Amino acid sequence: MQAEIVMIGTELLLGEIVDTNAAMFAKALRDIGMDLLYKTTVGDNEDRIVEVLNIALARSDVILTSGGIGPTVDDMTRQCVARATGHRLIYSEKLERQIASRFRNFGRPMADNNKRQAYIPEGAMTLENPVGTAPCFLSEDARGRGCVISLPGVPRELDYMLHEVVIPILIHRMGGCKVTKVRVLRTCAVGESNIDRAIGDLMTARNPTVGLAAHAGQTDVRVTAKAETEEEADALIAPIEAELRKRLGVAIYGTKKETVAEVVGELLREKGLTIGVVDALTAGQMVREFEENGAGDVVVAPQMQDRGDMPDDPRARASAMAKAAAPKGGMGLAMLGPCEGGATFMAVYGPGPQGQICVESRRFQDSDHIRRWLVIQGLDLVRRSILGELASPAD
Ligand code: ATP
Ligand code: MG
Repeated sequence: MQAEIVMIGTELLLGEIVDTNAAMFAKALRDIGMDLLYKTTVGDNEDRIVEVLNIALARSDVILTSGGIGPTVDDMTRQCVARATGHRLIYSEKLERQIASRFRNFGRPMADNNKRQAYIPEGAMTLENPVGTAPCFLSEDARGRGCVISLPGVPRELDYMLHEVVIPILIHRMGGCKVTKVRVLRTCAVGESNIDRAIGDLMTARNPTVGLAAHAGQTDVRVTAKAETEEEADALIAPIEAELRKRLGVAIYGTKKETVAEVVGELLREKGLTIGVVDALTAGQMVREFEENGAGDVVVAPQMQDRGDMPDDPRARASAMAKAAAPKGGMGLAMLGPCEGGATFMAVYGPGPQGQICVESRRFQDSDHIRRWLVIQGLDLVRRSILGELASPAD
C-alpha cells in the first residue's frame, strides 16, 4: 500500500512556518513499513487543494492531509476533500454536539464559526479528536481510488491523532490481519537520540515493529504487532518488551496514558511523602505540576533564594536548598538557574531517614520547549529518588 501526504496552508507554502508535520508523518509511516511516495504542499486555495488531492488519489492508496480543519474561512480542507472524493459536504448534528461538549470540557464558549467544523464529506468516518476541537475524518473515494484522512495542522494535535488513531487504522488496512496490538512504553528525561542509540537495532524488525514518538522531555516507544489472534499478538510483543525493559530500565515510567507528573504524584501519595519545592527556574511550572497531581502538601519556599546562609557554589547551593526545603520526614526539590554559562542545577533530598542528595546539572535556553524539558527532568529526579534508582539513565 502506498501513502502520500498533502500539507495544507499558505504559511507553510511560503516558508513562514517550518513543516515539522511532514517529518512526523514520514517517521510514523516508516515505522509501520508503509511506503510514502510523495509529499505536496499547497496553499489555502480550494481549487488547487482539490487538484492536488485528485492527483494524489490517482496514484496512491492513502492520502494523509494536515491543516485546514479549523473553524475559519481559510480552513477549507473539509469541502476540498468532499469535492475530490466525490461526496457532498453535509452537516452533522452529532458532530456539532461533540464539538459543543468539547468546548464545555475546555471551559470555553463555542463561537458560531465552530459550527463549520460540523461539516464533513457524506459517508466519511469521523475520528474523534480528544486533544483539540476540530474533528478529523476519513473519506473513501467514491470512485474507489483510495481514501483521504484529514488531520489537524497543530503539531501537538496531529501527534496524538496520528499515533493513537490513524496508525492503527493504517496497519489494519495494510495487513488484513485480524488483530493489531500496540504496546507503548513511555520514557522520560532521556533524549530521543539516546533512546535510539540504546534500541536502534530493534527498530528494523517487521513484526512487531518498534517505533519512537518524541514529545518535550518524553519519548514513547511503540511496539506494534499484527497477528491472527490477541494471544498471538501478545506473544509477539512479550520478548521485545522484555528486551526493551532490560535496556531502558528505570527510564520507562509508564505504559498507559499517565503523565510523569501523575506517576510522581501517585508515588508520593503511596509512600505518604510530602515534598518541599524551591523553584527558581521554571516560572512556577514545577510547583503547578505537583499541585495539579495532588502530590500531597507541596511546600513552596521561594524566598530561600535570597537567604545569605546558603553556599555560593551552585551545586552545593542546590543541595542545601533541597535539604532546607524538605519538611520533616519528607522530600525536597530545588531547581536553580540559569547560572553562569546557562547551567541549571536540580537537587533532590530524601526520601529515607538519612536523606540522600542527588544533584544534576542541565543546560538552559529560553524556550517553552526547554522549560518543559526541565520540568520533566525535575519530576523524573524525584521519581527516581523515590524508586531508589538515582543513577541517571542512558544520557
Ligand atoms: P486550527 O484549528 O488552529 O485552525 P488547523 O487544523 O486548521 O488548526 P492550520 O490552521 O493549518 O491547522 O494550522 C494551525 C497551526 O499549526 C499553524 O499556524 C502552525 O503553527 C501549525 N502547523 C500547521 N501545519 C504545520 C506543519 N506542517 N508543520 C508544523 N506546524 C504546522
Ligand atoms: Mg486553521
